[in-house]
Amino acid sequence: LETLSNPTAQVTDLPAFFAAGRTAGLTGVVDNTFASPIGCRPISLGADVVVHSSTKFLSGHGDVLGGIASFADAALHRRVWSHSLETGTIADPFAAWLTLRGLATLGLRMRRHHENADGLATFLSGHPRIAKVHWPGLPDHPGHELARRLLPHGYGGVFAIDVDGGRKETIEFTRRLRVADRAVSLGGFKTLVQQPSATSHRSMDAEGLRAIGITEGTVRVAVGLEHLDDLTADFAQALD
Ligand SMILES: *Cc1c(COP(=O)(O)O)cnc(C)c1O
Repeated sequence: LETLSNPTAQVTDLPAFFAAGRTAGLTGVVDNTFASPIGCRPISLGADVVVHSSTKFLSGHGDVLGGIASFADAALHRRVWSHSLETGTIADPFAAWLTLRGLATLGLRMRRHHENADGLATFLSGHPRIAKVHWPGLPDHPGHELARRLLPHGYGGVFAIDVDGGRKETIEFTRRLRVADRAVSLGGFKTLVQQPSATSHRSMDAEGLRAIGITEGTVRVAVGLEHLDDLTADFAQALD
């Protein structure tokens, strides 16, 4: 499972899934990258294993590749740990050091990511060139109530918008952004935008994309740590 889905930030009812999975004898594994451990603590909600791409919020500066898995059960951890040693999936010392340095400011950064995302999403939801905003902080988002319950300290900083236009207009919009960069990662200090239909979800056909709520106008926004006024001004000028 994912706590928050990519790119439309749908909220998974983790306690319900883990309870059902336990009844069926399944191991509950959740990718908590978008929420970060500040936003959500899945083991307290019934997860057996929580994975994070530490490339993202945990390191926080877009300069590390890494991953972390946390286990509720020590015996399961031991099995995966010896497999990990044998296959060499170990962070190099410099990556580990950068990650630890980033962790020192995780709480501060996550608060700012959330506030910036909430402010920018709210601004965009009232803009005439935006057809839809997928951010659980908006009261009409289908996951709003669930997000308030499962992520009491913020919803990360990643959301999606549907630009009121086709492929051409959407690409032009992203090209005209000056504060935000066009790139596929997330969780760093810099705001990044990408078009899922042209990058991360390129292998899916139009019908598959429609089924998960992605159009050619969908843009994922991974909100960084800039000043909110600079972000709203930048999105406004690019949309205009
Ligand atoms: C980036 C990402 C991954 C992959 O992590 P890498 O560190 O890039 O290998 C997995 N899950 C989510 C939700 C991600 O955002």
